[in-house]
Amino acid sequence: MKTIPYATQWIDADDIKAVLEILKSDWLTQGPKVKEFEERVANYCGVKYAIALNSGTSALHAACFASKVGLQDEVITTPITFAASANCVLYCGGKPVFADVQEDTLNIDPEEIKKKITSKTKAIIPVHFAGHPCDLEKIYAIAKDNKLIVIEDAAHALGAEYKSARIGSCTYSDMTILSFHAVKHITTGEGGMVLTNNEELFKKIVMFRTHGITKDQALLENKDEGCWYYEMQDLGFNYRITDFQCALGLSQLKKLDLFVNRRREIVAQYNQAFNGLANITVPIEKSDVKSSWHIYPVRFKGERKNIFNKLREKGIGVNVHYLPVYFQPYYRSLGYQTGICPKAEAYYSQAVTLPLYPKMSYEDINYVIESVVDILEGAKR
Ligand SMILES: *Cc1c(COP(=O)(O)O)cnc(C)c1O
Repeated sequence: MKTIPYATQWIDADDIKAVLEILKSDWLTQGPKVKEFEERVANYCGVKYAIALNSGTSALHAACFASKVGLQDEVITTPITFAASANCVLYCGGKPVFADVQEDTLNIDPEEIKKKITSKTKAIIPVHFAGHPCDLEKIYAIAKDNKLIVIEDAAHALGAEYKSARIGSCTYSDMTILSFHAVKHITTGEGGMVLTNNEELFKKIVMFRTHGITKDQALLENKDEGCWYYEMQDLGFNYRITDFQCALGLSQLKKLDLFVNRRREIVAQYNQAFNGLANITVPIEKSDVKSSWHIYPVRFKGERKNIFNKLREKGIGVNVHYLPVYFQPYYRSLGYQTGICPKAEAYYSQAVTLPLYPKMSYEDINYVIESVVDILEGAKR
């Protein structure tokens, strides 16, 4: 029987060659390829500074740390995301506050953000769900009015555009984070990045990535210890990425536009097939954005679990993105309860993510389409 995953990477011979070259070189851990990768991604996104780290989660942690999120500080985010978007707040001792989503894009709703702002609010972490950019202009205006920091979680959105600026340009935010996990647009195996136009935040994160340690003469408190000397000035972590991972990232980056275009083609094919069918709602793309389509989440009216199981029986690796974060047992144990974000909860009860990845064959796309149509027609009979 066929098995189609919901997502998978695309690694070519030139990716492998790029990694092998570094394995044969003198550098394994953080070296020249890290810097080159940072520069290329920053260039692509149209932003001044980039710091590569060993995961998107580390990037979120670093961004919260640089925002000085501390004990009792509140950070507003969406429940329709991967747990890391909220966990990074807990890492810093802060409290994630969930604001409900818009029904059409499933992105965090600026009006709901306003309702959740208190005197303790420090930052907002909007997530560009499925690759569709959030309403950044509105969110940034709200942040400015309330002196809040905006950290875009763009783990889904490398290659996306908002009002003709690339996501990652930080035009309407203080920082943007990316993930290079295997299912994301480009991969380094595991990896992530923080992008910013703010030099101070940049410097803070460079140190945070390596234990809060600096050797930079200009930054040292004691300048006369000797050339062996370094200082640990913050409590950082080892969040470094390796040189061979960044060699892979550089090679993958060359194919990013191709990957995004292929994703957009597949989505167009899905949309055409499903539009007009009863009992299925397809994801939308607003006119002022270009989505990079990390995933293709649809909503089924009726027995979601049943439809999900039938698709899995046909060998289609469907998934659900996401269980509202505060439904997770750990969050429940912190006191979060059902009903905080009714729209997110309603979406979750109908959500199924269909397979989407650049390497998907026409045969597989058609097989998914036929299977979905079949199940929906079968349900009518
Ligand atoms: C993948 C992902 C992350 C975390 O990235 P990792 O590289 O897996 O640590 C954060 N936020 C969202 C929305 C993600 O999808």
